[in-house]
Formats: sequence, C-alpha cells, structure tokens
Amino acid sequence: MGTSRYKAVFFDISGVLYQGSELIAGAPAAVARLRENGLSVRFLTNTSRKTCEQIRSDLSGFGIETEAGEVITAPSAAHDYLRDHGLRPWCLVHPNIAGEFADLDQDYPNAVVLGDAADGLNYENLNRAFRLCHGGATLVGIGANRFFRDGDSLLLDAGPFIRAIEYAASVEAVIMGKPSPVFFRQGLDTVACQPGEVLMVGDDVFGDIEGALRSGLAACLVRSGKYQAGDEQRVAGRFACIESVAELGAIL
Ligand SMILES: [Mg+2]
Repeated sequence: MGTSRYKAVFFDISGVLYQGSELIAGAPAAVARLRENGLSVRFLTNTSRKTCEQIRSDLSGFGIETEAGEVITAPSAAHDYLRDHGLRPWCLVHPNIAGEFADLDQDYPNAVVLGDAADGLNYENLNRAFRLCHGGATLVGIGANRFFRDGDSLLLDAGPFIRAIEYAASVEAVIMGKPSPVFFRQGLDTVACQPGEVLMVGDDVFGDIEGALRSGLAACLVRSGKYQAGDEQRVAGRFACIESVAELGAIL
C-alpha cells in the first residue's frame, strides 16, 4: 500500500464502518492501516441531526479516533460554504446542529439554510424561507433526500421542502451532502488532492459511488450496510467492489 496511487480515502460512515450500534468487523484496523501508510482519511456523511463532534464521539466509541476536521457532514460543509462565500444565513435546521452555524453573522440574512428541521418545518418558517429566497437569498440545502426511516415510521426529509422553496421562489438550491459535486469539492479541498488521487468507500451505490465517480474520484462499493444484490449494475463506470471495509487493504 506504500505505493498506492491514492493519497486519500474518503469513508462513508453508516453501513461502512458501523451499522446502528454494530461495528463492521475490521473497520478500525482498515482506517489505522491507511494512516500508517501516510494516506489522508476523511469521513463524509450526509447526516443532518448530529454535529461533527457527536460523530467523532460515535466513531471513537467504535475504536476509530479522528482529528477535528476529518469528519465532514452536510451541515459542516454548508457552514464552510457560507463562510467562504461571505453569506449570512437564516438557519432552518434541526435544533441539534443549530450551534454549528453560531460563529456566522446571521443578521440581515442573505442565505437560507434548509435542512431536516423536524417540527421547525412549519408554515410560518417555510414562508420566511420562501420570502428570503424570493428576495434574492441563496438557498443552501442540507441533503436532498426525499424521506428517511425512523424506527417504524417513514418521515419527510429535507428534499421535499427544498423543492417547495425552489419552486415557489424560482431558485435553484446549492445542495450539501453526497452526491453533490459541491460536497465532494469541499472534501477534496481539505486534503489538497486532485479527484483522481482520492478513493471514496461507500455502501450507497448512488450517493457514494455514482456521486464520487461524477466528481472524478475513484470509488469502492462495500457489500455491507444498505448494499442490495445487483447494486454493482445500477451505476455506469468503473469502480471496485468488496465484501466489507476489512478487505480494503487488498485493493489499494
Ligand atoms: Mg452509508
């Protein structure tokens, strides 16, 4: 692996390193081996209800230690996008992550951050988001998923609400989170690599694999987590496929 053509590896987290409360066997050793060989490691997740610090704590609980800045979430990428573009956000996001934007000037907003805000996605707040965007504010979406599962229930995710604001205000959102090229770009900027020098490892053939390929990264599908038989055939382009992250060393 010392002669790997890759300089960095991006990991999806859920379904790749752990699934719910279960560690995926070999994950800590796979990450450690990359570090020992001098590769940069980043963890890219679309989660919109946890801060980077909470995810670092989860990873640590599974024996995977990280540095601040190695975990990149859709909210943290949204934050960096706002900062880099000098935008003042009005944040319609989940209460758990509102603090992630606390260092940004939020007076006289010229941007709307719209995420899975749960009960915050009410008529009053959506109208405020609409009016700001109609008046020229940039719409930044945290993920664009249609729905998600919470226990036995299916719940609306941020995507339908982002679409509603886009439709009403005749704007197009900047979406943070995989498979958005803006999101992969944010990750690449943190490792100072060309796309072809980075391997994305994920269990979601569209969000992780197709998204990475479209951004010029190499990709490796793991047959764990949300993987379904036949996923290899659902996406055009060349990518590796392994049973689990434990086999990663063999393909590098
Ligand atoms: Mg996953």
